[in-house]
Formats: sequence, C-alpha cells, structure tokens
Amino acid sequence: MALRALAAVSVVLLCSGCFGTWRQVKSEHFRVKTDLSSRDAIYTTKEYEKLYRGLQTIFGPAAAPRTVIDVVLFADPNEFSRHTREGFSGFFNGAGTHVSSAPMIVAQNMYIPDGPSDERRTAAHELTHLFMRTAYPGDLPLWVNEGMARYFETLLFDGDELCRGSVDTKLTFALERSKKRPLQEMWQWSRYDASEKETRADYANAWAWVHYLLSEHTAPFEQFRGALARSENPRAAFDAAFAGVSGLEAGFDAYTKRDSFPVFTRPLPPAPAPVLTETLMSLADVQLFKASIALHWENAELAKEELRAARELGANGADLLVLEVAAKVRSSEWSELLGTLKGHPAPETLMPAVLELGREQGVKPAQLMAAVEELEQTRPLDPSTLAWKSDLLTSAGRAEEGLAAARKAAAADPSNDRAGAAELLALARLGKCGEAQEGYRRLVDKMSGHSMGTSSQLRRVVAAINQGCSSR
Ligand SMILES: [Zn+2]
Repeated sequence: MALRALAAVSVVLLCSGCFGTWRQVKSEHFRVKTDLSSRDAIYTTKEYEKLYRGLQTIFGPAAAPRTVIDVVLFADPNEFSRHTREGFSGFFNGAGTHVSSAPMIVAQNMYIPDGPSDERRTAAHELTHLFMRTAYPGDLPLWVNEGMARYFETLLFDGDELCRGSVDTKLTFALERSKKRPLQEMWQWSRYDASEKETRADYANAWAWVHYLLSEHTAPFEQFRGALARSENPRAAFDAAFAGVSGLEAGFDAYTKRDSFPVFTRPLPPAPAPVLTETLMSLADVQLFKASIALHWENAELAKEELRAARELGANGADLLVLEVAAKVRSSEWSELLGTLKGHPAPETLMPAVLELGREQGVKPAQLMAAVEELEQTRPLDPSTLAWKSDLLTSAGRAEEGLAAARKAAAADPSNDRAGAAELLALARLGKCGEAQEGYRRLVDKMSGHSMGTSSQLRRVVAAINQGCSSR
C-alpha cells in the first residue's frame, strides 16, 4: 500500500514536468511555443528575428520563407527526447506538420544567450536550411545544403555589422581528424545514415568546401547558386560555372591547412524593433502540437496518448480529428481508417489528408487509387482529392487522364496550387515541356505568400521537367 502511494506521488511529480506552463510569443516571422520562462522566450524570439534579418540580407528578400515559422522549444530535454529521438538537440521540419503547413524548428532548451553558443548555431543552421528551401527550390545537393547551413550557423552581429565566416573549432577539429574528401566524393554524399564519425567528417568537409568556394571562388560559386535558384541540374550547373577554374582540389587542400579563415562583414540594414505578443497556451493545444511532433517521429502510440489527453481536456476541433486519423495511419490501420472515413458525415473533406498520410506510410498507389474510386462512387470529389487522383493517374503512366483530372480540379478551384502542380506534372510527363515550364514559373509566382504545402509536389514537377524536358 505504502509502495502504491509512493508510486502515485512520483507519477504526479513526473507529470508536473509535462504540464508546465506553455506560452506562445509571436513576432513578425515566428511563433515561439515554449515552456521556458517569459523572459527567456521573449529574448529568444528577438534573437530569432535578428538571425532572420541577417539571413534575409545574405540570401535576398526573395528567399525569405513565405510563411510564419513555428519554433518549439522544450525546457525539459527528457520531454524533448520522449517526443523525438535520443541523442540530438533539435530538428527542422520544412513541410510543417499534419495540422499546419508552417515550417517548424523544434529543439530542446534553446534559450539563445548573447555571443556564440551551440543554441545560436543550431537556430541559425535550421533557419539557413529554411531560406535555402525557398532560394533553391529544385534539387539541392546534400554537401551544398549542409555545407551552407554549417557556414552560416556562425553568423554573428556586432552592433549594425553582420559577420560571416567565423569558425566553429569543433569543425576544424573534425576536419583535422578526417580524411579530406575530394569534391567528387562530396557529390556522392546523399544520405545521413552513415556512422556518427563518418557523418561528422561529411559535415566538416562540406563546411570546408563551402567556406573555400565562397571565399576563394566567389564569382563561379555565385553563378552556381544562381543556377540552383533557377532549379537547374546542380551537377551540370556546377561544371558549367567552374569550367574555367583549374586546381580546385589542390586549392582546397591548401585552404584547409591554413591557420585562419577569412571572415566577411557587411552592414545590417536598419529595422524597427520587433513587436511581440505573448499568450499562454491551453493544455489541450499543448497536447495537440506535442502529438503532431510525436507523429512526425512515427511515435504513434505516444501521439495517441497525447490525443486522448487533449480530448479529455476538451479539444474537439478539426486538428484533433486530423491527428487522430494520422495516428491510425501511422499504426498501419489503413483498412480500419477507411472504415472510419465511411462513417464520417463528410468523408471527402478528410480524404486529401488520409491520402497524404497513406503515401507517407507506404500504402501502395493502387490502394490509394482504389480508395479514391470508392469515394467517387458516392460523393463528388473535391478539387484537392481530384488533384490527388490526377497525380496517381500520371504516376501510373496514364498522364492524359491525369491531365484531364487536374484541369477539372483547377477549373473548380483556380486557387488550388496542388491542382496546378498536378497539371504541370502531367504536362511534363506528356512531353509538353514549354507549357510545363511556363506554367511552373506562373505557379511559383502565384504561390508567393501561400503555404509551402505543395513544395514536395513542386520538387517532383521540377524533377519531371529536368528528366523529360531538358534534353528536348
Ligand atoms: Zn543541417
């Protein structure tokens, strides 16, 4: 009995951590959700705005992310690991979550102190990735993506001066201890899942290559980045930009042996002080976004637990429903899920989310198509589901039918970017390259100010155009 009482007490104590006060501090570009103190949350939000301004100065206003960015900071590292994975300090999810298309930076205890720190580097690193997603919408080689993120993570501010190129000694240390990688090897780096030691060496070499090219080959590297901004094939663009450059490898070798690396400063344009609003979050809302993070990390059981708690706390909106559906898909309850959908009064409204989740979960395209066709027998398809149908048809080699479905969707809802992208994919597959390329430019222009939800589909369009059209 005494033991049971003790157990109950310890549960209460443990849970005081999971139900700390969460607040949201909103600024022009960020929504910082955290259980850090109000003072730390406000200071950190201001630092995020400063990094944003710095990156905007570097990448140009056109590269600014088109949506507000969610930043979730867990004060308790254990609570962070429980919802994500052991062993790292933060992650970036550019596509947003099941209930929000806002890109999301999630980290543990990331109060940003003044001056250089791991926390500031992590924040700048993830933000750089975000700016690059907008700046370079096509294929981005991993060495460029990670090399640039590591380069700009040491961005520092000295009054009104912006300083880039400072060295994180952990990187030079890793570089000294690893075999120098020739550029050819960097191009082959395509996955993160090597050993920790290998990964460290990959990152250090990517950083060193970017540092070298930015400092010593500024003009051709700039030309290469321009081509990436136009979604050109990265390898061909690099070879074209560096065609007149010789001794690249020898130069790299000499560069990495230097004692100091060049640092560049430029003035930071003046900006008004950020306007911040702080609100306390309801417990139900906290459970919901924690569930969405757990789902991102494929922890369906934890997500279900959070969702049950959210329901008990009074949540009952669309977000809860979408997350509950997502948790079921994550648990591979595909057939059960379709049953639930049939019982829903307006199943067509949930269908696009269900299809998205099904694809993520590896449900076969033929099964997805069967679900769409079954729904179509009883309900008219909404434009988003029609766009899905178009995609599935095009991918199955039925691009003519895919084009017809996409055009029907676009006619029903001209503002539906997903339908627009489906149409482009079909056009590219049909070899109608001029039309596809022109439509792509129009769609990207139109999308500014909209969500990034269609960005993965846009990447497929770019790939299809590159694959089928560049040789024509
Ligand atoms: Zn990174």
